[in-house]
Amino acid sequence: MNVDLLLFAIVAAAMTCVSAFLIQAAVESRARARSWVALYLLAMMGEMWISVVVYLSSPTVSRLVAGLAVSSFLMVLTVLPVLAGLARSRSRGSPATLVEDVPVRFGGGLASLLAATLLVNEFLMSWGLQLATGTVPFGGSALAGFVAVVNSPWFLFTMAGEMALTAVLIRRRIPRPLFAFLVVQSGIMALSPPALVSPLWTQVAIYGSSVLMIGLFVYLFEYLYRHRQFPSAFGSYLVALVSVYGLMMVGTFVWQYFGDGTTFAVSVVLEMVVVYLAVARPALFQDSPALPWQLRPGWTTALLSGVFVAELGMGAVLSVQLDPADYLGAFLFLPLAGPPGTVLLNALSNGFWFFATAAASSWFLIMMGAEMGALVVFKFRETKNLENRVRLLLMMGCYAAFAVFYPSIYFALVFPNAPNPATVPVLGWPMGIGSYPLAAGVFGTVLLTYVVLGVLTAFFGRRVVCSVFCTAPLMYQGTAIDSMKSFNRTSPVARKYLSSRFSAAYSLTLGLVTVALVGTSLLSYLDSTGAANVYIQGNDPSVFFFVASFSVAWYVLFVAIPYAGNYNCVTMGWCYTGILSGAIQKIGTFKLKVRDRQVCRDCTTVDCAKGCPVGLVDMPGHFRATGEFRSTKCCGVGDCVEDCPYDNLYVSDIRHTVRRLLGRPETRPRATGHTPQPRGGARGRPTVSAVPFTLEEGAVPLPMVGSAVEPSPA
Ligand code: SF4
Ligand code: SF4
Repeated sequence: MNVDLLLFAIVAAAMTCVSAFLIQAAVESRARARSWVALYLLAMMGEMWISVVVYLSSPTVSRLVAGLAVSSFLMVLTVLPVLAGLARSRSRGSPATLVEDVPVRFGGGLASLLAATLLVNEFLMSWGLQLATGTVPFGGSALAGFVAVVNSPWFLFTMAGEMALTAVLIRRRIPRPLFAFLVVQSGIMALSPPALVSPLWTQVAIYGSSVLMIGLFVYLFEYLYRHRQFPSAFGSYLVALVSVYGLMMVGTFVWQYFGDGTTFAVSVVLEMVVVYLAVARPALFQDSPALPWQLRPGWTTALLSGVFVAELGMGAVLSVQLDPADYLGAFLFLPLAGPPGTVLLNALSNGFWFFATAAASSWFLIMMGAEMGALVVFKFRETKNLENRVRLLLMMGCYAAFAVFYPSIYFALVFPNAPNPATVPVLGWPMGIGSYPLAAGVFGTVLLTYVVLGVLTAFFGRRVVCSVFCTAPLMYQGTAIDSMKSFNRTSPVARKYLSSRFSAAYSLTLGLVTVALVGTSLLSYLDSTGAANVYIQGNDPSVFFFVASFSVAWYVLFVAIPYAGNYNCVTMGWCYTGILSGAIQKIGTFKLKVRDRQVCRDCTTVDCAKGCPVGLVDMPGHFRATGEFRSTKCCGVGDCVEDCPYDNLYVSDIRHTVRRLLGRPETRPRATGHTPQPRGGARGRPTVSAVPFTLEEGAVPLPMVGSAVEPSPA
């Protein structure tokens, strides 16, 4: 065993422990003087490392003397602001040594000072220990040296340890969710891939940090679902954290793909700033003004954007790690050199293709499936309607089998003799035209695809495509994302697409998409015959349209849910597969029916309309007038059935039509008279309230914004 290395590790661990205890002393002290002393001791620890760095950079006696002189001078210098701070406290009439009832509150300046001190300490210690172990981090440029120091195990592991220990020490001062975040964050930091130069470590770190991050995001979304408001300080922390994680995952990809760790190192430093600013001011997490996130589209979009960029980066990293044969050369980057116009165009092209390639990769879809699928499982637990439960199971199964496994390399490994997907109807053409170039040889396959999906839609409605077969519903229908349907009623843009009618905005979108689909399909066919030679960045026009729609635009609009509304591929009518399915639904057997029209006439809650994820707010009027409702936009999610408090609503399709033709009742009668039915599945729907962000959980209901998830009726 390398004894020196062991000794240095013990030194680093000791520094970590002392730092964590000093942080606790600084933020939990009830006397201002103690906070100042803790800060002073922290600063001294960093200053001590300066002499180590100066000496080890060039180990001579004169450098040793110089290092000690600099350290001593700085230590003396640091006493001055501490004394000044103490003196100022006294002159204001608040004795610095006074012991208060509550811990001293740090302002923004003191919190920043604490964060900066801790970062500099860690940096100097890591630099010193690298020099002591024979690594010369500053052999190249200053930037390269900074990256080498931050991405070293001495920095990353001690930071992770310090974060975890600090969280444990101050856990009584911080709310439980923040404690949970800090603990998981420390795990993610400890699993930083650049920390060690070892293929085994790279694998362990990438897989381990991905699992932890997915778990963290699931926890985050479920937290949002169950807490419709929380202190704005926590909201700011969450947005800052997911933004840093977005940068970190992009940085991991850049490190893995190009060997450049700069972005990763910057993200690590930013994460530590976010963490230290949070732990320095724990009181803010309890008493800052409330943030009702469903009324804050900007905040929600920022959160979704950060999470999504992190997921995209993680998908790219996992794909390269697990499937290097397919992905190591798949991300094509044009050089960012030449005239400004060329640089701009190349940058846009790089961004577009990185986005499209990563979003279409199997591991991105697996990771999203795990994350969003967990939210769907939570929703499944709350779902009481059997048909809805079955549909949710089918949806998850289809996602796993058809959206992920079938197009992946793993299907080809398991079934090496499987036919070319371009020749397989439905599965090979999951979203119809655009899945492959439209040549005469595939006309039969495409036709069969539309016939199969058309017949299923005619019998069972658009839900076959839009709530089971497509990948989109899994992303939309989990608990937290589903609750974002409240934005369909509050966003000025989304409101233009409310109700079953075709608004001007809807008609315009529909028209543009139809023209684009017909145009690119025609060009694709003409290209295949040689009559035309039109390609978009080397791609078949219809395939490019498909990629732009479902690998890029779909996700951009997903993070824009707070402005565009939930399920916007349906509500806005920009998905051509969905439009076609909706048109067939209009002439099929699928419709919503009520058991008793009078119940709807007497109903004052109209919960069916509030629960609709595509904003079909006019359905109660149709129920009252005709007892049924049919719309091309209805995608059969069934939240309306779930939310009707009178158990008055059901989905009618070919099964009910057959029963009617046989002279049998379509469905069972309503369970009760006008008595509202209790909500919740077998386990009961949990009371979802705006729990204030206090250490003791106490529920104070917040009125929901058109959400299906409301406090349970008493
Ligand atoms: S509209 Fe299109 S993208 Fe949206 S759920 Fe339906 S098929 Fe999927
Ligand atoms: S379906 Fe249910 S919630 Fe909707 S109007 Fe009728 S009784 Fe009310």
